[in-house]
Amino acid sequence: MKILVSACLLGKSCKYSGGSNKNERVIALGEKHQLVPVCPEYSAQLPIPRPPAEILGGRVFNNLGEDITEKFLDGAEKTLYIAEEYGCRIAVLKERSPSCGFGTIYDGTFTGKTVSGNGITAQLLYDNGIRIFGESQIDRLNKILEDEEQSYE
Ligand code: SF4
Repeated sequence: MKILVSACLLGKSCKYSGGSNKNERVIALGEKHQLVPVCPEYSAQLPIPRPPAEILGGRVFNNLGEDITEKFLDGAEKTLYIAEEYGCRIAVLKERSPSCGFGTIYDGTFTGKTVSGNGITAQLLYDNGIRIFGESQIDRLNKILEDEEQSYE
């Protein structure tokens, strides 16, 4: 199985702060599956480090008040292209990110509060039939992958 993965979860230092969100359980998926790392914001040529961004009213703003929605849309399109090139039908994406978050995202006030919603890339991938899991859902994902493996045996 080829699985699209937020590169920061694999230890790449691509998050806005210049750090990563390295997650050993996500990395361990690579023992059985081919992981395809993506960072939509890096793909959109946003710098590292960069000001944090959040979604408000369907647009993306950084904490300087700049509207960077077009960059995020560009990153989303490039990520979808990679997913399709590799044939990834499953993605493991960083939770709450304005690009990668799925189901819950920060609320646009830069106060750490969250709301229901999807990041720009997560939404586009979902709209194109890709199943999305956050890093806290690895148990559920492993169960699904095991069940799928058994159904092929
Ligand atoms: Fe991680 Fe996604 Fe943010 Fe890139 S855009 S740093 S992959 S959460």
